[in-house]
Amino acid sequence: MIIVFLGAPGSGKGTQALMLADYLKTPFISTGDMLRDQVKQSSVLGLKAKAIMEQGELVPDNDVINMIKERVAQKDCTKGFVIDGFPRNSNQAKALDKAMMELGREVNKVVYLEIPQEVAIERNCGRRVCKNCRANYHIKYSPPKTDNKCDLCDQELYQRDDDKQETVVKRYQIYLEQTKNLVDYYQDRLISINGGLPIESIGQNIREKLKLAVGR
Ligand SMILES: [Zn+2]
Repeated sequence: MIIVFLGAPGSGKGTQALMLADYLKTPFISTGDMLRDQVKQSSVLGLKAKAIMEQGELVPDNDVINMIKERVAQKDCTKGFVIDGFPRNSNQAKALDKAMMELGREVNKVVYLEIPQEVAIERNCGRRVCKNCRANYHIKYSPPKTDNKCDLCDQELYQRDDDKQETVVKRYQIYLEQTKNLVDYYQDRLISINGGLPIESIGQNIREKLKLAVGR
């Protein structure tokens, strides 16, 4: 089974995709991680991607698709896999379907983790980072032992500009806008999940809706 994950920043999409891949014992394919690996290895794609990303542009769809195809052709993906980070719009979704068809495969299910704007704000804006060692905290979910001080090195914590409310709201709105067409495109394969629940409940709901929990 090939499963795609969609969800706004703060929806817990990456975590859930990884948990499901673990549960199914199939590979977890994160296009973001794969691109970062390519950059690290200074491969042909990596060098190209690095130059593009440094200019704040997106790596062309074709390059990402080819990277996915190469990965999917490997033996461990025969039974299926879970993909995170791609597609982000309906053109990419069409390109992904075409690529899978060429491999004699298909995207079977699309899990969409929906969260209201308040949840996106709470989860993203609560993040704090240590100025010194970059350790991550969350004022509600994983607070430091002492207010605003790093547990590891006792230095001050700060809120990244990316996690400020105004930025989070803007990113959330852009995400909804981009996702409309994607949700329409995937209509027949889409499973909508309430992403506002605790991690374990979300995982269970996903497995139930995919009918994976039956008989276990
Ligand atoms: Zn620290």
